[in-house]
Amino acid sequence: MTLTTSLGEATVAELRSTVSGTVFLSGDPDYQGARQIWNHAIDRHPVIIVRCTGTADAVAAVRFARSEGLPIAIRGGAHAVAGHAMCDDGVVVDLSNMTGVRVDPLARTVRAQGGCLWRHVDHESQTFGLAVTGGIVTHTGIGGLTLGGGIGHLMRRFGLTVDNLLACDLITADGEFLVTSDDEHPELFWGLRGGGGNFGVVTSFKYRLHPVGPTVLAGLLVWPMTEAGEVLRLFRDFVADAPDEVGIMANLRLAPPLPVFPEQLHGQPIVGLIVCYAGPIEEGEKVLRPLREFKTPVLDAVGPKPYLAHQAMFDPAYPHGRHYYWKSWRLPPLSDGAIEVIVKQAEAITSPLSAMPIFTLGGAVAQVDDDATAFTGRGAAHDINIVASWLPDDPEPERHKAWARATWDALQPFGNGVYVNFMSDEPASHVQLAYGAHKYARLAALKSKYDPDNVFRFNQNISPTPEN
Ligand SMILES: Cc1cc2nc3c(=O)[nH]c(=O)nc-3n(C[C@H](O)[C@H](O)[C@H](O)COP(=O)(O)OP(=O)(O)OC[C@H]3O[C@@H](n4cnc5c(N)ncnc54)[C@H](O)[C@@H]3O)c2cc1C
Repeated sequence: MTLTTSLGEATVAELRSTVSGTVFLSGDPDYQGARQIWNHAIDRHPVIIVRCTGTADAVAAVRFARSEGLPIAIRGGAHAVAGHAMCDDGVVVDLSNMTGVRVDPLARTVRAQGGCLWRHVDHESQTFGLAVTGGIVTHTGIGGLTLGGGIGHLMRRFGLTVDNLLACDLITADGEFLVTSDDEHPELFWGLRGGGGNFGVVTSFKYRLHPVGPTVLAGLLVWPMTEAGEVLRLFRDFVADAPDEVGIMANLRLAPPLPVFPEQLHGQPIVGLIVCYAGPIEEGEKVLRPLREFKTPVLDAVGPKPYLAHQAMFDPAYPHGRHYYWKSWRLPPLSDGAIEVIVKQAEAITSPLSAMPIFTLGGAVAQVDDDATAFTGRGAAHDINIVASWLPDDPEPERHKAWARATWDALQPFGNGVYVNFMSDEPASHVQLAYGAHKYARLAALKSKYDPDNVFRFNQNISPTPEN
């Protein structure tokens, strides 16, 4: 007997009559589609999925789960590589239809519902030439990305996503509705800025916006992998004193067969630098010149382009439906030793779909006190994301995962903590590593106040501490 049957028809009928969205039960024709998430390596079977149309539905779904004694998964953009948007044997509060966005161009703020993707927020904001730091793939959810911290092309100029978060509407584990900000429930608001989906369902985010573009100097520079060591040393020296306007990341992989790459590069091992200058284009041309003149890139696709186009640049490289497994480290400025390991592991990559993007922090991220938000690791120079990816019918998934794990192990001497949003399903000790002992204890105290039963446990989980 499944838990679904044990709910009883009357209980489910009552829920259906309460919500204005859709309720999916195992056996319903659309249940299979509703439980699908970005990473198809994950296959979970919730008891019930409530696809909400608004806050009222989300409140009803949380209260329903509590009355039935079931744990809750929250589905934002469904991009957590560990598949936290879905659960087995629990209730999914699915926000994917809650994608309303309202920009206030005079106040330079934006309100976005909890199920928005970055493309929804960027589309509305860029109409007014405004933007907030978001993720580098437009089909990622704002929910999980924001609550974990939020790193992206604009962060060195405007800070992390959470540095621009002004308020959240939240439904707690008791089904209560709270507005949180620096003035209302400030400790909870502190925890929401990096503590993930541990404290409740955020139905609406309010962000500060900044003038960006709409045309920016941005794009991709590529060299053959044989030059990766030199390019990464150039990258290191360049970021050491680059102005905050420079958003820059490196990436090592086999060139995918995408239109941006000339055909002769497809499948070739490459190192790339991805830049986005958040300032005047002429100024950016001067600042970025040393990169573009370094040796002879096999591809220079840097130029003035719509910010929206740059935001979408990585979209085809990380499509829905593949299988993914990630590991990650925060890194200090790249030493020669770290560069050697990165290049060696890039050369040993096992799948044409795997990659090693290296984000660059610093700038405005580092100017905020580390204790100001739950996000941890502002002093890091980089976040390296070790992305193993393969097609569903690939016969060697374990080989690709083993490469990611071996790369993580090899970088351990250089790593200093992890970014929660780049973690796969990992032991509790890694979550503690992400926050450090002091912040973890502060987050655990909050968890014990707002979710003592750990109802919201499908996340990089913070255990409630009974003594608090
Ligand atoms: C292709 C790709 C690109 C990425 N690029 C970046 C990047 O540039 N920068 C970056 O910082 N990260 C990036 N990430 C990581 C990303 O931040 C995390 O995967 C994040 O969890 C995605 O959020 P989501 O809402 O899409 O995911 P979901 O799987 O829906 O949710 C992730 C977690 O957040 C919780 N959650 C989601 N929405 C809410 C909400 N409204 N209220 C409460 N809890 C919620 C969920 O319960 C879950 O625990 C990327 C991920 C992918 C797959």
